[in-house]
This record gives sequence, structure tokens and C-alpha cells, in this order.
Amino acid sequence: MIGFPLCPVCEAEYRDPLNRRFHAQPNACPVCGPRLELWDVDGRSLEFDYNALQAVAKAVTFGQIAAVKGLGGFHLIVDARNEEAVRELRRRKRAKRSPSPSCTES
Ligand SMILES: [Zn+2]
Repeated sequence: MIGFPLCPVCEAEYRDPLNRRFHAQPNACPVCGPRLELWDVDGRSLEFDYNALQAVAKAVTFGQIAAVKGLGGFHLIVDARNEEAVRELRRRKRAKRSPSPSCTES
């Protein structure tokens, strides 16, 4: 969370021993915390926040594969009920070398 400096409200919560968020390291809010951003395969920004979430949900519904970058790496999203989409995800995972051992588990 080092890339997300606390806003004054979150900073006050973080430093108040009587606050339930006292020294809570993942403390953040919509002002100072991480935001959702949707990029296309060429790295162009397409949508933010709720619109990004809706666009990804729609894309997955239509059989596309999404990658969500989090603090610990990437999570791949596919509709598990869509056999063609799952087959494509498996094909891509076999086609390229996985970035970490946990990505090779299936
Ligand atoms: Zn904040």
C-alpha cells in the first residue's frame, strides 16, 4: 500500500488508538485507496471503478478472459460454465511459460 498515501481522514483513523482502524495497514478509502482501471491488451485505459467492473463482468459473460492485477500478482477470470472459454484459458496457460509456480497448478 506504499503507493497509496493516506488522505487526512484515513491518516487520522490510522493514528487514533481509539479507532478500530488504528494502525490498520490496509486502511484506505475511495479518495486515497486503489482504484479499478480496465486496460485493453495494448495497455490503453478504457474504464475506471464501477464501469471497469461492469465491463469486465460483461466481457467474461461473453466468453472473454480477464486478468486482474492485485497486490500479490494476477488473477485470471473466466466463466467456468463456458467450456470454450475455459479451453482457451488452458490453451494459453500451456502456450506460455507461467510467471510463478502457483499459476501452473490446475
Ligand atoms: Zn482515505
